[in-house]
Amino acid sequence: MGIIRKTKSVELLLDIFSQNSNALSVVNLVKKTKNQMNKTTVYRILERMESEGVVHSFNDINGNKWYAKCHSCSSDNHLDSHPHFQCKDCGAIECLSVEIAIPKVPNFQIDSAEIMLVGTCRNCSIV
Ligand SMILES: [Zn+2]
Ligand SMILES: [Zn+2]
Repeated sequence: MGIIRKTKSVELLLDIFSQNSNALSVVNLVKKTKNQMNKTTVYRILERMESEGVVHSFNDINGNKWYAKCHSCSSDNHLDSHPHFQCKDCGAIECLSVEIAIPKVPNFQIDSAEIMLVGTCRNCSIV
């Protein structure tokens, strides 16, 4: 994982990501780690993990920031053009491993795209 020093705090966050296949909101991550580190440390580590290609971030429908594990990214090749799905019942977000073609628009250079699909997840659709 390159230049990230594996401090206790880094390891703790990596652990949390490896135990959760779904994305985690920053609010939730701060809550999970509040006995071990302060908010600022959590923010700083997450930013470093993102620039290393370990996690990626995006905003949910309410504008809150979330992070999810990357599967085949590195610091030089960070491409997360996959869509995310947020359940409107339970609020959970997961990465969808489907390719979405970003359209080429003449005269516009597109650097990134965030696609959030909203609906009901498999757990909530069981009545
Ligand atoms: Zn749900
Ligand atoms: Zn994702």
